[in-house]
Amino acid sequence: MTVTRITLVEGDITEQQVDAVVNAANSSLLGGGGVDGAIHRKGGPQILEDCRRLRASHYGKGLPAGRAVATTAGRLPARWVVHTVGPVHLVEEYDKRAEQLASCYRESLRVAAELGARTVAFPAVSAGVYGWPLEDAARIALGTVAAARSGPVRELEEVRFVLFGAAAYRAFEREWRALGLDEERSQGQESEEPGGQEQEGRS
Ligand code: ADP
Repeated sequence: MTVTRITLVEGDITEQQVDAVVNAANSSLLGGGGVDGAIHRKGGPQILEDCRRLRASHYGKGLPAGRAVATTAGRLPARWVVHTVGPVHLVEEYDKRAEQLASCYRESLRVAAELGARTVAFPAVSAGVYGWPLEDAARIALGTVAAARSGPVRELEEVRFVLFGAAAYRAFEREWRALGLDEERSQGQESEEPGGQEQEGRS
């Protein structure tokens, strides 16, 4: 059985050549700062137009935290953008919100797989303006995606985390090694890059 590869790169998610790029959107779906702003800027007005249509047809009150929905990717080198709404970090409601963050990853993978995506790129959802501490965001993100691979997203070839800046990359790399995901790479699975240095990739 093929195991979906989980890879890490440091870079800009708007430059990734993957089938689906995940956006850390806000519940309005009408654009924001951070990764959301970058995706709309690079992708052009088609994405916002699709988002407006979704708001009008399905999400009058906005997309709730933990959910995911897809649009076209406009001018991005991807086929789809999967918009997911991460929770704002709040210590008093940690358990509920951590579950919402995990749900962002599960739902985004489900939506991407239903579209027929084989490769998906994620940013560190909630780890920017929404204030989730990087180490914990990495633990939830990688743990959830690793667990989801035995479920309905089996057909995905690669789930790539695109980390913006060295600190985010290091936090994810630590957790990636702790989960043994680096070992999977070297256990004789067919690798497009002999030497398996993909995790060191910087762009
Ligand atoms: P949130 O509101 O969910 O916290 P942000 O966009 O503020 O979303 O931040 C989420 C993560 O995305 C942060 O780690 C931030 O540094 C990162 N980020 C910002 N721009 C980009 C980009 N172009 N590509 C990848 N990651 C990015």
